[in-house]
Amino acid sequence: MPEAFHKDFSDRNSVRSNRRVRSLRQRHRRAKPFFVARLPSPGWFPLIGAAGGFAFILILVSIAGHPVDAKVDETLSLIQEEWLKPGFPDHPAAAPKMINTRLKEGDSSISALERLGFDAPTAHRMIRKAKPVYSLARVQAGHHFERIDGLSGIDVYYHIDGLTRLHLHRASASDDWQASLSTRKTITRQHIASASITDSLFAAAAAAGLDDRTTMNLVDIFAWDIDFARDIRKGDSFKVLYEERFDDTGSLLGSVIMAAEFINQGKSFKAVRYEQLDGQIHYFTPNGKSMRKAYLKAPVKFSRISSRFQVHRKHPVLGYTRAHRGVDYAAPSGTPIRAIGDGRIEFAGWKGGYGRFALIRHTNSNHTTAYGHMRAFARGIKKGKRIRQGQIIGYVGMTGLATGPHLHFEFRLRGRAVNPLTIKRAPAKPISSSEIARFQQQTSPLLSQLQELSSNPAWS
Ligand SMILES: [Zn+2]
Repeated sequence: MPEAFHKDFSDRNSVRSNRRVRSLRQRHRRAKPFFVARLPSPGWFPLIGAAGGFAFILILVSIAGHPVDAKVDETLSLIQEEWLKPGFPDHPAAAPKMINTRLKEGDSSISALERLGFDAPTAHRMIRKAKPVYSLARVQAGHHFERIDGLSGIDVYYHIDGLTRLHLHRASASDDWQASLSTRKTITRQHIASASITDSLFAAAAAAGLDDRTTMNLVDIFAWDIDFARDIRKGDSFKVLYEERFDDTGSLLGSVIMAAEFINQGKSFKAVRYEQLDGQIHYFTPNGKSMRKAYLKAPVKFSRISSRFQVHRKHPVLGYTRAHRGVDYAAPSGTPIRAIGDGRIEFAGWKGGYGRFALIRHTNSNHTTAYGHMRAFARGIKKGKRIRQGQIIGYVGMTGLATGPHLHFEFRLRGRAVNPLTIKRAPAKPISSSEIARFQQQTSPLLSQLQELSSNPAWS
């Protein structure tokens, strides 16, 4: 039976309702940009006071049109004189102007700032002033800049991540830019979830309180050891120690798996998260071997093998016996296809019976992998493009000689197709001997927390 355990002793129902609240909050946040939720800065208050006063006058003036009492009339004229003195704007000052620009692939902070209306010398000056705090040379596609023109000057924000933003402020044209970083507070909650699979992995994980993204992360961690398409059995189980991070408004920012165990067909696989001295974060086995093997076990998740590597096979379309030098993964049309390892696209295009076809030459250049019958390539997939392991390169289809949607997958050793299901997989780099003590010191508390779950009879 799936069970969820929460370190803070909250019960499962409250966690579910929290999740519902969270998703509502997220929807709410999406509709409302960050700056709207903030309190007006002190610079706003005179404006608000003035605008409010002005609205008050409008109401009084309209009442004045229908005087009921002469006394009231006198009072009104006084108030009007008091307020409608020369120099008062004839309409409430415009609300602060806000513009936003998102960085595109290959975009620079200079061009983003120019889109926000700054000339090139000003943009350069801003970047220079920001540099001691945050280098705008490091900007990333997808992130955005925001410019707000208000009564207290110009504010420009660059959103570094969900929590931190660079703030550039200039009070007036004669002042210089001031740069600072502001970080929102976060709250971290640790949870342990465990489940036994009776129906599907996702159903068991959801019942244990894991959201789909965390479940996908769990699948990714073990993707080099467990073929989630073929190897999952009823009775397989898993335990996950994970942290949820919330911002100061209570919205979920994300969850991180700290340690996990997956028992697949009686075999236990354990993984623990570790930040290496060089800052890289990966998952490792308890004795410091990388969870990342040289290649993913399968290029398509949650599919089934419809045809194996065979030297003699009657071709389903051509009808005669011909070697099948790959593995077919049957999956619904549109299912993402992932590169099983890092490399470069050597060919992406139409290739006879393969239909829409891609060939990747891997980091070990003796190795190439081939992907056929694709419905479409992923955006940007073309010859020469660098590919990361797990990156989506295209989508399952039935182009070329195919009777139904499937991926035809080949692994080639020096150009010759070999059986992808039987190749030996070399592990990625383990923790170096100089770092192993630090690794054990940091990861053993996480692993023992995971272990406690199974040794505590109340939790079994
Ligand atoms: Zn095939």
